[in-house]
Amino acid sequence: MELALREHFPDLPEIVLWKAELMFGGLRFTDALARAVEEGAAPNFYPYRRRHESGQVDSIQVPYLFDLGGQAVARIRVDDRAGMEVRRDDAGRYALWSVGAAPRELCEVQFVRKHGWQDFRTADGLDAFAAGAEQLGDMIVVNVAPGCEYFSVRAERADGGGPGAPQKCSFCAYGRFDRRSLTLGQEQGRLALDELTPKRIEAVLRAAAAGVDEPSAPHARHVYITGGSVLDPVLEVERFLPVIEAVRRGVGDRLRVTIGSGAVDPAGSRRYRDAGADSACYNLETWDAATFEACCPGKAKYVGRQRWIDGLLGAVDAFGRGNVGSAFVAGLELVPPGPCLSHDAFVASVVEGATFLLDHGIAPLYSPLWPIDGTSYKITDGIPPTLYVRLQRELYALRAARRFPVPGWLICPSCSFMLLEVDFDRALGLDRLGASPAGRAGEDPCVRPLASPAAS
Ligand code: SF4
Repeated sequence: MELALREHFPDLPEIVLWKAELMFGGLRFTDALARAVEEGAAPNFYPYRRRHESGQVDSIQVPYLFDLGGQAVARIRVDDRAGMEVRRDDAGRYALWSVGAAPRELCEVQFVRKHGWQDFRTADGLDAFAAGAEQLGDMIVVNVAPGCEYFSVRAERADGGGPGAPQKCSFCAYGRFDRRSLTLGQEQGRLALDELTPKRIEAVLRAAAAGVDEPSAPHARHVYITGGSVLDPVLEVERFLPVIEAVRRGVGDRLRVTIGSGAVDPAGSRRYRDAGADSACYNLETWDAATFEACCPGKAKYVGRQRWIDGLLGAVDAFGRGNVGSAFVAGLELVPPGPCLSHDAFVASVVEGATFLLDHGIAPLYSPLWPIDGTSYKITDGIPPTLYVRLQRELYALRAARRFPVPGWLICPSCSFMLLEVDFDRALGLDRLGASPAGRAGEDPCVRPLASPAAS
């Protein structure tokens, strides 16, 4: 697949365009990928499946993430129609190549390696993943209660018939109650976590934080706590407080901790802060009100758009400007069940929302709508790559005008494998301004302590 983004965006740095091509087009399988895993790259959750003419299928391990010449990280998605591939030379050097009429080397690549804490086992023998921790680049995602109550509750049908559709978000396939939630001891409809859960996650995080003392080895730099929603934002706070406390006990002051629950009221944000969170990220998913109703029915019904926005503003009061974020799924507005906005109306809505949020000290992030099985979307419903890059260019201009780079605590060059904001900031120099409301020049924004909670 040749996306030819350069034709549309001759002004943008190559690294941004290669990464966008990788995100949307993937790369062809080559034996170099399998070799990289043999040489220590962290393996992908989805192995490559090579089908032979006989019908036999081989499952081949490929790396999960790669590092584009130290300038960006990107998720590896193998698609044999892609216009890029990885090659390894006799000296063991890996490089990304564009293939086609005039093949050329784009940049040297390396692969993200497994952190040492992934080999840790809890006192009752669980590995880190089973205890609720996952490595995404240099970020540890803590999710000890992945089951989301919006998957369980159903809408009332207009005709008064039986139960209607689940209230889950239209793009989400990861919040169902399944074997993982059961393994973690999460029970549908029960707020309290298994009493062993905080102890296990504290132990895993203590092991992970110890890695900071060996800077030459790959190690974690920030923690993001997330999980499925409960129906009442007040109870959501009760669900997450013991998790924040356990994580903080585990990491001490070595790692930055962000709480990524659903939006809670201002008092809830203050309790999160007092329990040990440094920052908060409450994902509104879409700024457009009609899209929010249609695509996030659980969030719309049990929290509501205005209460969500007020929760974000309350979080700024608790954590300080630049220490609050909100993630969005770019493209929900364009296809059903969204209102099918035109491309221009979609961009205008996103820009309106981003302007509001940035002006209130909140960092918005936009991942592309990525249709997967178990959601409302067909594969062709994904946002067109050119529209996504156009949107990112507009968002960069908003951040640059405010000298407000994406804060490193939220996402950084070592974990931003499905987004372009960090790559724009880095390639165009915004990350070097040192004027972010979230950090001071010369400080590593991923590591505590960061900003003092400044008045907004
Ligand atoms: S709140 Fe929405 S995105 Fe989050 S787990 Fe529930 S359904 Fe999925």
